[in-house]
Amino acid sequence: MTVRTRIAPSPTGDPHVGTAYIALFNLCFARQHGGQFILRIEDTDQVRSTPESEQMILDSLRWLGLEWDEGPDVGGPHGPYRQSERGDIYAKYAQQLLDAGHAFKCYRTSEELDELRESRKEAGLHLALKPTDLALDAEEQSRREQESWPYVIRMNVLSEGVCVVSDMLRGTIEVDWAQVDAQILMKSDGMPTYHLANVVDDHLMGITHVLRGEEWINSAPKHQLLYEYFGWEMPQLCHMPLLRNPDKSKLSKRKNPTSINYYRRMGFLPQAVTNYLGRMGWSMPDEREKFSLSEMMAEFDIQRVSLGGPVFDLEKLTWLNGVYIREDLDDDALLQALREWAFNDAYVKQILPQVRPRVETLSQVVPWRATFSLACPQSLKMILTA
Ligand code: GLU
Repeated sequence: MTVRTRIAPSPTGDPHVGTAYIALFNLCFARQHGGQFILRIEDTDQVRSTPESEQMILDSLRWLGLEWDEGPDVGGPHGPYRQSERGDIYAKYAQQLLDAGHAFKCYRTSEELDELRESRKEAGLHLALKPTDLALDAEEQSRREQESWPYVIRMNVLSEGVCVVSDMLRGTIEVDWAQVDAQILMKSDGMPTYHLANVVDDHLMGITHVLRGEEWINSAPKHQLLYEYFGWEMPQLCHMPLLRNPDKSKLSKRKNPTSINYYRRMGFLPQAVTNYLGRMGWSMPDEREKFSLSEMMAEFDIQRVSLGGPVFDLEKLTWLNGVYIREDLDDDALLQALREWAFNDAYVKQILPQVRPRVETLSQVVPWRATFSLACPQSLKMILTA
């Protein structure tokens, strides 16, 4: 079996360090096993997804040195690698579930759903909505069908019992079926939800191991059931610990910059950022702090990931970056790094029109340059027009 892993970002904003962290571990796991690493764009949320965000994600992962074997920009035998281009595939599999009685069309309105949830809350019942809660009487169901009311396709789920999912790091995870909704698989606009698209694509793209953030644990029972419905073998799941702020809260932009663009514009070296991300919950066998991506790939062992909430600490990253500058870059290499960062014609030309009206001597350009260097092209525009 060839190991195949993937990163599946949703292009809905700035490229997040958490995406790079998960990508790095998937890449190392694949390479360690002589396997392949795939990049898939999960852009089924048509309102929030943008091509600019997709481009920034690709650029920033590549800047970090995380190369993929297949993806929307490099192609591959399992394309398209952008979910918005795979609509027919999801429609076919949703129909297959409907035909087999594993899914049903739900014509409930959002007001009805609110009422259902409210009445369950009042009765002290669990809030998950099951197929029986959602069912309409036969007459009403056929009236809505004939009048072409909008509908969603939901999956059938069990009402009771415990779902046991195995996880490469956590052993077995148990989730009470009572907590699991009859998940929407296809929205009324005909687009799939994450759950259907993710399962179908992981299967069709031959993904063998899914390393993803622990925030997806609650989705695992639904995914496992979908694999069962389709009669497909499920990839092995591995839920990675979430990155944390130094105060142990979930890494958030309010407490720490989370955009990879920020670190790039601030003049961090990609090899230092990648090295630091490799230290998130993982260590080299000899515990050394500084190592290259190829050393990490060679020594990688998923079992050495510790679940104790890795802390993303800007001070430590800054320290490590300094070590790289001092130890790895001779004058020529440092000059080259400066050129790539901001000492280049393209970058200087980009900020000159903004700097010119603000300075009277050339030396005053320098502090402005520092201000602008913080900004990625998108936010630069915002800062300048504020
Ligand atoms: N699109 C999901 C995300 O944005 C992917 C989650 C997964 O890896 O299954 O993180």
